[in-house]
Amino acid sequence: MKRYQLLLVVFLTTITAWSQSRLSTDKPNIIIILTDDQGYADVGFNGSKDIPTPGIDQIAKNGVVFSSGYVSFAVCGPSRAGLITGRYQDRFGFSRNPLLAPKDSTMGLPLTEETMADLLKRAGYRTGVIGKWHLGAHPSLVPNKRGFDEFYGFLSGGHQYFPEKWDLQDLSEARNQWDGYRTKLLKNYERVNEEEYLTDALSREAVDFVKRNADQPFFLYLAYNAPHAPMQATEKYLSRFPDIKDEKRKTYAAMVSAVDDGVGELLEMLKTLNLEENTLVFFLSDNGGPTKDNASSNLPLRGFKGDFFEGGIRVPFALQWKGQIPSGKRFDAPVISLDIFATAAALANVQPKNEIDGVNLVPFLTGEKAGNPHQDLYWRNYNVNRFAIRSAGSKLIEEPKKALLFDLSADISESRNLFSIQESLTQNLTEKLNAWKKQLKDPLFLGLGADEEYSRLHPDRFTPDQK
Ligand code: CA
Repeated sequence: MKRYQLLLVVFLTTITAWSQSRLSTDKPNIIIILTDDQGYADVGFNGSKDIPTPGIDQIAKNGVVFSSGYVSFAVCGPSRAGLITGRYQDRFGFSRNPLLAPKDSTMGLPLTEETMADLLKRAGYRTGVIGKWHLGAHPSLVPNKRGFDEFYGFLSGGHQYFPEKWDLQDLSEARNQWDGYRTKLLKNYERVNEEEYLTDALSREAVDFVKRNADQPFFLYLAYNAPHAPMQATEKYLSRFPDIKDEKRKTYAAMVSAVDDGVGELLEMLKTLNLEENTLVFFLSDNGGPTKDNASSNLPLRGFKGDFFEGGIRVPFALQWKGQIPSGKRFDAPVISLDIFATAAALANVQPKNEIDGVNLVPFLTGEKAGNPHQDLYWRNYNVNRFAIRSAGSKLIEEPKKALLFDLSADISESRNLFSIQESLTQNLTEKLNAWKKQLKDPLFLGLGADEEYSRLHPDRFTPDQK
C-alpha cells in the first residue's frame, strides 16, 4: 500500500470512530441505581458518619446532590411505578404495593403504560434491569415484556439474601405472599443457580452488563433490594463496623456497604471503558427509611417509610454526568424521581407515548435554564385518604380529620404546624391539590394490606395450573 493510501485509511478510520462516538454522545447511556428503604441520612453525601459510602459519594463528587430529591410515593411498588413511567402512578391506578399474584394480569403496571425501557428501546438503546422488579409477576407484566432486553433478578417485592435460602424453584411453588422471597433468581425467563450473596451478585451482573454493551447506547436499571429487610449480611461487610453495637444497625450498615462496593465497581468500569462523559448515573432510594424495620436513619427529617412527612418521601438522590453537568454541586430546589424519565426522553430525543409529569433536569443543572424545575409536587395515599403538596418552601399534608402546613425552608423537621395561622396559603395549596385530585384514577388492584381478602376472592391464587 502506498503511503498516501495508508494515510487515507487511517484518516477514514479516525473519522468513522469519531462519528460513532459523536453518535453515542447524542444518546448518552442512562444508569439508575435504586436502593430500597435507605434512609435520607445514610449516605456520606448527606453527612453519614457511621456508614462510609465512598463509592456512592463519587456520584455526588462528580455531579450534583439533590438535597430536596423526592420519590412519588412512600413505599416500594407505587414509587417504582412512578419512576419507571415518569408519571404520577395514581394517574393509572397503581396506588398500592402489589400483592404476589402470578396469575393476575391486573396485579402490576398496566399495559397502557410505557416504561422507560420501552421508550429508550424505541431510541435504539439496549435495556437491562437487574434486581427487584415488583411491577407484576404475571407473564404479561414481567421485565422482558416491558421493554427490557435483559433481566437478572426476582419478580417479588423483596428477597432473601443468601442462596441457601432460595429453596423454591420458582413462583409456581409459592403458596403465600412471602414465598416470593425464597425463589431462585431469574435470568430473563430462566432460573439460574446463583451462588453469591444477593447484593454482590447484582453488582457483578451490572458491571457485566455495562462491559457487554459499551459499544451502543444502553439503559441500566439497577434495582438493589438492599437495605430492605430481611436484615442479612456477610462477614466481609459486617466486619467493617466493629463500633456499631446495635445489631440491626450494624447489619443495615453492612448491607449499605455491600451496595456501596457495587456502585464503586460499576463507576470504575465506566472509567475503564472511557464512558464517564457519555453516561448519566442517577442514585436514589425508592422511599424513606423504615427506621424500626431496618434501623435506617432519616434525620433530620421527620417520619419514615409510609409517611408523607419528609422522612417518607425525601430520599438520598444524586446524579453525575461528567463533563456535562457541574461537579460537586448541591441543588436545593425540589426534584422528583419522575424527572429521570423526562431527562432520559429529552437526551435520547424520543417522544413519550403518554403525558409525563417529570422535567428534564439537565438544563437546570448546566444553568441553561434559570428557576426551579417544579412549581408543585403532589402525593396521594388512597388507602388512608392522605394527600400532600409541596409548593416552593411550603408543604401541606391533608388527612380526613386534620391538615398540617409546614415551612420547610425554615423547619426541615416539620415541627411547627402553621395550618391555623397561614390561612390564605393553606387555601391556595388546597385548591391546587383539589385540581390535581381530579386527574387521578381509583386503584386497579388490592394491595399488600389486603393479602387475606385477596386470597379469599381468588382461591386459586397459588394453585398450580393443570397441565
Ligand atoms: Ca422500598
